[in-house]
Amino acid sequence: MELEGKVAIITGGTRGIGKAIVMDLAAQGTDIALNYRKSADLAQEHAETIRGMGRRALVVQADVSSFDDAQVMVQKVLEELGQVDILVNNAGMNWDGVVWKMTEEQWDRVISVDLKGTFNYTRAVTPVFREQGSGKIINITSINGLRGKFGQTNYSAAKAGVIGFTKACARELGRYSVNVNAVAPGLIETEMVKEAPEKVREMALAEIVLGRLGLPEEVAYVVTFLCTEKARHITGQVIQVDGGQYI
Ligand code: NAD
Repeated sequence: MELEGKVAIITGGTRGIGKAIVMDLAAQGTDIALNYRKSADLAQEHAETIRGMGRRALVVQADVSSFDDAQVMVQKVLEELGQVDILVNNAGMNWDGVVWKMTEEQWDRVISVDLKGTFNYTRAVTPVFREQGSGKIINITSINGLRGKFGQTNYSAAKAGVIGFTKACARELGRYSVNVNAVAPGLIETEMVKEAPEKVREMALAEIVLGRLGLPEEVAYVVTFLCTEKARHITGQVIQVDGGQYI
């Protein structure tokens, strides 16, 4: 197995794309640390599944928007799993509204989860990666961070910020053999999307040249590839997994 003996932290790993990443990395031999905010039972259930696959699993309650939670989680991973090799900044949320009606709270919350959350975990693992001279960071952005989306100024700004952050980190960490990349999904069939109005799905379907929404696993396969040594000469890139939704 390509990733046997590696330890990965995946934020927001309880459902959707994050859960698919957790399961695919575990299937490739990786021990897993995942955080949850409220769904303790679900996180424990996933941990049992991972242990059933012969991997180690650690579950930590942590809000990604908290700098301190990220520091504590990485410390726990080091104490209990002994190392960290991979960070997937996946946790995210949206809280839509046109800019002329957007509240300060809507803006601040999305920026602090989607953008600051990515900084928080990167900040917590990079001293370890720098010291060991290796590491993989994959940030989940969105095609809406590349093109801007009506009703999502906060989300588009956060996800565009994640792309700038990814490129700057790649420059800073390249000398330590740390790869930093972003994956930009188009519309993927997850709970986040099931909560969206039917019109949003229909409009997206009309754009996707492959004619269907993506599956969480199809994002996970690309993340897993970026974690492998086969992808060792790829850094600072944004890889779209969108069925041609934005070309
Ligand atoms: P989802 O809502 O199904 O899952 C999001 C996960 O993040 C959940 O586990 C949730 O608990 C966690 N989370 C949210 N806020 C958190 C916080 N403050 N602290 C800790 N955990 C938190 O969403 P998804 O569709 O699986 O999205 C995963 C990622 O992919 C997000 O970053 C999202 O922006 C991105 N994305 C999704 C789509 C899509 O179509 N589904 C498209 C492009 C990008």
